[in-house]
This record gives sequence, structure tokens and C-alpha cells, in this order.
Amino acid sequence: MSRNQAWINRDLAVLWHPCTQMKEHEALPPIPIAQGEGAWLVDFDGKRYLDAISSWWVNLFGHANPVINERIKAQLNTLEHVILAGFSHAPVVELAERLVAMSPAPLTRVFFTDNGSSGIEAALKMSFHYWRNIGLPNKTRFIAIEGSYHGETLGALGVGTLAIFSETYAPLIKPALIAPSPDCRQALPDEPCAAVTERALLSLRTLLEHHADEVAALILEPLVQCAAGMRMHEPAYLAGVRALCDEFHIHLIADEIAVGFGRTGTLFACEQADITPDMLCLSKGITGGYLPLCAVLTTETLYQAFYCDAPASRAFLHSHSYTGNPLACVAALATLDLFEQNQVIERNHARSPMIESLLNPLRQHAHLKHVRRRGMIIAMDLCASNGQPFPRSERRGQRAYRHALDAGVLLRPLGDTLYWMPPYILTDSEWQMLAAATLNAVNAATRD
Ligand SMILES: *Cc1c(COP(=O)(O)O)cnc(C)c1O
Repeated sequence: MSRNQAWINRDLAVLWHPCTQMKEHEALPPIPIAQGEGAWLVDFDGKRYLDAISSWWVNLFGHANPVINERIKAQLNTLEHVILAGFSHAPVVELAERLVAMSPAPLTRVFFTDNGSSGIEAALKMSFHYWRNIGLPNKTRFIAIEGSYHGETLGALGVGTLAIFSETYAPLIKPALIAPSPDCRQALPDEPCAAVTERALLSLRTLLEHHADEVAALILEPLVQCAAGMRMHEPAYLAGVRALCDEFHIHLIADEIAVGFGRTGTLFACEQADITPDMLCLSKGITGGYLPLCAVLTTETLYQAFYCDAPASRAFLHSHSYTGNPLACVAALATLDLFEQNQVIERNHARSPMIESLLNPLRQHAHLKHVRRRGMIIAMDLCASNGQPFPRSERRGQRAYRHALDAGVLLRPLGDTLYWMPPYILTDSEWQMLAAATLNAVNAATRD
């Protein structure tokens, strides 16, 4: 028995994997990873996989990064964890200071949680609680955008619209009001995306005209709705939403859990529309993909509505055991150091022409549509030769996934949408390998 097989057998005897129909592992078992090295994952039989999805969008500077490793090791010998209620420590203070310094000026306060979904829960509760504290307790609802994903706890599912995650649990969920998607792929032939943006904003205005009094906040994923299939929209949409939120007195929550930290080409996606949200949620890449951590940044106005001598009910009591964990905080500090020392945003930007040239053959492929890119997020949709989507039951994306795995590249398509969201450390030849493997996978998956 191979070493892989031995681990697979032990895994399948005890584990229940996330986002997985476990029975499908009979046909395609999980891949046991022995080691990570930069952009590569190595299994127990020594086969190497290029991690083109950054291990679920979290890894920015490679696996076993020496800079991050050293910071965590040093912290490990100093303080592994301490309660953050009533106590404090150096890494959490330094991280909060740096996050405030690097985000838009009005964001002055940092609330930590210990994963993305819990950060979303905190942001939603904080918004409702703010309005309640200032005497508007009827603002109890949220607006979400069609195609949104904000995590899978019950509150977060309420502001998500992906049926695959929420439909089953509908009886448990308080649903949000849904505004139409600004996804540029909706543009009619010969129409610019600006027309989609305008229609989406117009519908949002109508929704607000009817419901603003009962709405606490609008939540969105700026520039790219990732889990829905890397749906991209214009910065102008964000600017429009910000103006409407101001006009109708509701908060804007920017969920940059996936798109933050350089993914869209700027440090934060909101920068491209020159807007400041009332709450900015950051996670995933914040620790370079090492440890769970989420930061919710907010304004002094929000913070001050909780700051008083009144009873505990006016304070924000939300808490998680591992809030502000020191090891996670130093991983984040090391990640921020890497950004600064290596001018990552500028260097990623300088790769644009190279990435675009790799996309040319894919743009001409008869079985690909909407080949699109926003910074370091590249996506494309498989289609039949008549341009129509394949029947879902054919699972073409899954076929592409298997072919790419055989070729040593980890793609993990979202349905029939293939995407690249690699660590920022790929060499030119790794980019070329990724493009070539993708082309081969598309060819193999669309052949009949
Ligand atoms: C991943 C993700 C979340 C949830 O984060 P978890 O740490 O997985 O709970 C929320 N919002 C967006 C946009 C995400 O991509």
C-alpha cells in the first residue's frame, strides 16, 4: 500500500470533511499532504501540486514561509495565548495600530474575532446594536447582494444568497433583503458594464426607498463576489452604494475577507472606489494563510455609541475564546512586514502584462467565456461550443479539476468557473505551467 493510501484509509475512517459529499471520496479520495514548500504542496508519495488557489484563498507568501515561521516560533516561546477580555498583549496592540494606519482614516477601531464568519457575525450585530443604542431599535434587517457569500454560520447565511449553502437551513435563517447583482457578465451584447452598474444601483435605491427604516446595514464583497463564481463588478458600483447608504442612513459593511490584502490589485478593494465602509472585515490572507484571525475595523462614531456608564446592554459583549490570539497576530505582523519590505502591490502590478499574455490563448478558446481578471484574481467560465453553459449534471468543472490534479496543479473550480488565486510568489515559469495546465484541463474537460 502506498503511503498516500495508508493516510487516506485512516482519514476516511474518522474524518468528516468540509464542503464535501463524503461518498464522492469513494471515487476521488482526499489527497493527504505531507509538506508545503512555497507555492507547492507535496503528498505522501512525493507528488507535487502547484497551489493555484492559495489553499482556499488564504496563503499569500507560500507555505512554510521562513519570515512568518520565525515570528511564530519566537512568539511561541514568549506567550502563546491570553484572554483578551480585561487583558492585552503586544502583538494585538501592534497589529491593531498597523491595521488602523494602513486603512482609510475614518476607521480607527479594531475588533478581533477568530475566523471570517465570526467576524461577519460581529459586524452584523455591531450595526444593529449601534442603531439600538442611539434610539433606532427597529433597524433589524440587512441588505445583501445577489450572489453574495459571507460565511456559513446562521447569521452569515442570512446575508448569503448561494442556495447550495443556505437552502437546506432556510427554516433556521433570518433572510436578508436582496439587491440585484452588479456582475458585469450580465451586460447585453454591445453594452458596457456601466449599464449593469446603473441598473443595479437603481434597483437598490428602490429597495431602500421601501425599507431603509428597518435596515441596519448593507453588506457586500467589494469588486469580486468570490464564492459565487468570481463575479466581478465595477468600482463605480461601490461608489454608488456608499452614496446610497449615506443618503438612507444605513451602514455599509465591506467584507474584504477574501478580496483584501492585495487580491484585487490594491491593498483593499474599497480603495479602487475611494470609499470608506463603516465596517471593514479582514481575514483569510491576513495571517499569510497560517492561523485563523479576523479583524473588524470600524469608525469612532460607531465605537462612541457603545462607550458610556450605562448598563452592560449598551456594551458590545460579543466574544470568542481565541480572540486576538498572539500567534495569529504575529503571523499577521510578519505578513504585513512582507508586504512592505517587498513592495508586493507594486510587484504584483508589474506582472500584469505577463499574466495578460498568458490569458490570450484562453480568451480565444471555443470552450471558455468571460475570461476575466481583477488584480490577482483570474477567472473563466467553461461553455459548450455554442457559447451556452454545459448541463450541470455533466460536471465539466469537476472534470477539469481532476485533469489539472493529474498534471500537478490544484485548481478547484466553482461549478464550471475555473479560477486562479495563487500566492503572490509564483515565478514566471510557475505562471506558465499554471496557464498550460489550465488549457490542457479545459481541453480534456470539454472533449466529448
Ligand atoms: C471565506 C469567506 C468568509 C468566511 O470566512 P471563514 O473564515 O471561512 O469563516 C466570509 N466572507 C467571504 C467573502 C469569504 O470569502
